[in-house]
Amino acid sequence: MIVVHAGSEVVPFSKTGGLADVLGALPSSLAKRGHEVIVVSPLYRSATDKKPVKQQISLGVRLGDRTLPADVYSLRIGEHATAYFIANDALFLRDGLYVDRNGVDYGDNSSRFIFFSRAVLELMEKLDIVPDVVHSHDWQTGLVPAYLRTLYRDYFKGTVSVFTIHNIGYQGTFWHLDMPLTGLGWEYFTKDYLEFYGKISLLKAGIVFSDAVTTVSPTYSREILTPEFGYGMEGVLKTREPDLFGILNGVDYGQWAPEHDRLIPHPYGMDAVDLKQDNKITLNKMFGLDDSGAPLIGMITRLAQQKGIDIVIEAVGRMVAMGLKLVLLGSGDKTYEDRIKDITGRYRGRVGARIGFDNSLAHLIEAGADMFLMPSLYEPCGLNQMYSLRYGTVPVVRATGGLNDTVAEYDPTRETGNGFKFRDQSADGMLLALKRAVDAYNDRPRWQRLTRACMSYDFSWDRSSEGYELLYGAYRTKSYLHGYRSKHT
Ligand code: ADP
Repeated sequence: MIVVHAGSEVVPFSKTGGLADVLGALPSSLAKRGHEVIVVSPLYRSATDKKPVKQQISLGVRLGDRTLPADVYSLRIGEHATAYFIANDALFLRDGLYVDRNGVDYGDNSSRFIFFSRAVLELMEKLDIVPDVVHSHDWQTGLVPAYLRTLYRDYFKGTVSVFTIHNIGYQGTFWHLDMPLTGLGWEYFTKDYLEFYGKISLLKAGIVFSDAVTTVSPTYSREILTPEFGYGMEGVLKTREPDLFGILNGVDYGQWAPEHDRLIPHPYGMDAVDLKQDNKITLNKMFGLDDSGAPLIGMITRLAQQKGIDIVIEAVGRMVAMGLKLVLLGSGDKTYEDRIKDITGRYRGRVGARIGFDNSLAHLIEAGADMFLMPSLYEPCGLNQMYSLRYGTVPVVRATGGLNDTVAEYDPTRETGNGFKFRDQSADGMLLALKRAVDAYNDRPRWQRLTRACMSYDFSWDRSSEGYELLYGAYRTKSYLHGYRSKHT
C-alpha cells in the first residue's frame, strides 16, 4: 500500500510530545512491512537543522481568498519511507511549534494548520501519487479527512482516510469567522460537521469525515466515549463508535533497552539482572538517598494535573512511612515544581527530585528504580510504563487508558501479572497499590521472578504497525465488520 501520514510533529525533526514519537517510528515500521510510506510535516526551524533537500516543485495553497506559496523539502528515512516538509517561512519558520516564547498560542494557528492540511493534498497531486491510505493525526491535520471527502474528492476517490486522536484534551477550537479560511462552505458549519458550541473544531472535522478513527490504546478508545474523558467530544464520538478503534503505541527498543543502553552506567540484560542494583546505588548516591535496601520508586513526568501529581504530594509522607524512597524527574507547571522542591526538603534522604527535562537521567531512573509510579487522571497510552517493564522496574499505575492495557495486577499466589493497579484517583487508592507492591518487594525471590517476567514483555512497534496495517486493509476491502474489531480492540 502507499500510505501517507500527515502530522504536525515528527521525531527527529520536531517534537513537543508523544505524537512526534509515533510519527518518528510508525512510518519506518510500516515501511519495513513492505509498504511505501510518506510522512508530511511542516518545515519548522528545528527541521531545517536536519538538512532536508529542497525539491524542484512548489505549491500554491488556497487559504481563504488568497493563494499562498509553499516550497517542498524531503529526506529519505529508511528504505521505503520518505519525509516531506511543507515550507512557508512566514507560517512555520519559528522556534516554537504552537506557542511563542512566553507559552502563548500563536494567533495564527488556525491559518497555519488549515494551510498545512490543504498543502498535504496539494503535494500528493503534484507528486502524482494517489495513496491507498491517508492517515492524519490530531487537530492540526483534522481537515485532511474533510478535504478528502469534499474539495479533493475526485482525485482521492479510492483513498481510505484514518484519523488518530493522541489526546482528546486538545481540540483545535477557533472562532467561527475562521470558517472561510478552510475553503469549505458555511454549509459545513453545522453540528454534523465542523461546528462545536458556536466555534470551529478541527479535531471534530477529523472525527466526522474520516473512514476510521483511532486512539492510542483500546481502553482510551472506550473512555473517550464518556463525559469524564471525552472533553465534550463524547457525543460526536458516539456517532462514530463502529469505526472507532484503539491501537496501542509501540516502544523504540533501539533507545529503551537496558542491555544496550549507553546512557546508564551498568547495562544489564535478563541474564545479569543483578547489575540493576549497581544502577540503583548510582541513583541513590546522586540524590543523597539512604542505601538501606528500601524499595526505590521512580517517576518521570510532565508536571501537569493530568499526571496525578496532587495525590503524590498528598501521600508522600505516608509513602515514606511505608518504607518507600522516591525519586522524581519532571518539569512543567510552576506551582507543582515549587511543591516538589518543598517535599524534597522535608524528606531529605528519602525523597529526591530534579526539576527539568533530562533524557539521560530518565534512563538512569528507569534502570535504577525498583518500581515506577504513574497515577494519571487519564493517559491515552503512556510510554514510561512500557519502558519500565523492559527495565524490570515494576509499574504501579492508575487503571486508565494505555496504563490499564499494558499493566496487569500481580497475583502473588499464582505469580501472574506485571505490576500493581488502582482505580480510585485518590491518595488512599494509590497507597493501597503501593502497599501491595512493597509487600511483594519484601519477598525477594518472588520479586526477582516478577522483575524477569516484566522484562519479557514486548511492546515493539512491529505489533502496533501490524494493527494499523490490518485496519487499513480492512477499510480498503470494507471487510472491517468481520473480524478486525475482535482481534485488535
Ligand atoms: P506525555 O506525552 O503525556 O507527556 P508519555 O508517557 O506518552 O506522556 O511520554 C512522555 C515522554 O517524555 C516519555 O518518553 C518520558 O520519559 C519523557 N519525559 C517526560 N518528562 C521528562 C523529563 N522531565 N525529562 C526527561 N524525559 C521526560
